[in-house]
Amino acid sequence: MTAAPGKNADRGDAAIDVPTIRGQLPALSRTVHDKPLIYLDAAATTPRPQPVIDAVTSYETNYPANVHRGVHELSGEATAAYEDARRRIAAFLGAQTHGLVFTRGTTESINLVANTSGGTLEPGDEVLISALEHHANIVPWQLACQRTGSALRVVDVDDHATLHLAAVEDAITDRTRIIAITQVSNAVGTLTPIREICTLARSRGITSLVDAAQAAPHMGVDFADTGCDFMAFSGHKMYAPTGIGGLLASPSMLDAMPPWQGGGDMIRTVSFESCTWNEVPWKFEAGTPNIGGAIGLGAAVDWLGGIGMHAIAAREQELLGDAVARLHSIDRIRLIGEPTKRAGAISFVVEGMHPADVGAMLDRHGIAVRAGHHCAQPILERFGISATVRIAPAFYNTHDELESFEAALRRIIDVFG
Ligand code: PMP
Repeated sequence: MTAAPGKNADRGDAAIDVPTIRGQLPALSRTVHDKPLIYLDAAATTPRPQPVIDAVTSYETNYPANVHRGVHELSGEATAAYEDARRRIAAFLGAQTHGLVFTRGTTESINLVANTSGGTLEPGDEVLISALEHHANIVPWQLACQRTGSALRVVDVDDHATLHLAAVEDAITDRTRIIAITQVSNAVGTLTPIREICTLARSRGITSLVDAAQAAPHMGVDFADTGCDFMAFSGHKMYAPTGIGGLLASPSMLDAMPPWQGGGDMIRTVSFESCTWNEVPWKFEAGTPNIGGAIGLGAAVDWLGGIGMHAIAAREQELLGDAVARLHSIDRIRLIGEPTKRAGAISFVVEGMHPADVGAMLDRHGIAVRAGHHCAQPILERFGISATVRIAPAFYNTHDELESFEAALRRIIDVFG
């Protein structure tokens, strides 16, 4: 469903040219179950814009060569495009070019840190995470703690799912070595005071990692300004293909870390007795990387930058406000988490209905939402439930779509609830 030009202007759509944006996202114009698709699942993955599709297609079509290897023209072109993508992506996220390690995404980035910096943990040391974390920011730390005899500590949120700086401060002990916290919760939408947390960590000599998987698509994320040691993100949540993402750190920090995966490209010399490592960030990029994915992610940040993250954030705040108000207006709906600051997602349950059923019925209306535990079981348990329905509107959505979502939900509750 595409808004007619100007139709939504007085409803807050003016700053972003929504019809043009939607025209650049081909998946949005398809139908599902004979209904126009209403895509409210950006927190799971974002649709890919045409410039990203074109950049990937151009690599695969015109210069499908390996990087850093060949002397021939195609390899030179692939290497130049891959490394230029690194430069643009790092700049977009406020990091140094050689402070961006390409990974498969947030999960692999956090595992990289947990397996390298995490290796310096000693028995009795503590890793501090929050109750909001995605499994990707829990399990790697659990494994690191098991390997090293250190302990995983969890700082709780309040009953609205807000994470307070004071609670983080209270949870820090003289054994806290690493703080790993999400900037935005994928399950309940909490925006955390990440800059303050990282400043606090730095003042206490504690290593900090920010899970920016859900923040990067919704606001101007700035690695340097955040003041963290590590930041992890996923390309597919920021309009790029799956299988590409990154870890941001200072090059000197990366330099001081041991390598993680071994293989081609991460070495300078190899003999059967010993190896020397490549410079950073390549020391952490063993094997043939996702070259097309990196080029696609470069195109994605160019696209996002062209629209403007401030405009995106403003529009999404307004859509979230509209969606929250609509959900509040429906009897029998309970929002899970009403944090003071929100981005990305809204979770709710319908009294007497299973979230999976609600999600499946919305799908019959052409409305894509997520239902389940959202890979964040502990925060749902914190609220005494095991699953929610989650909507994650993004700047390409319209108020008309939210109206259709509300109408469909009311119908489902009336007929089946
Ligand atoms: N952290 C958060 C907050 C997420 O939302 C996700 C993806 N849902 C991840 C980590 C994991 O990202 P990926 O699966 O792309 O590695």
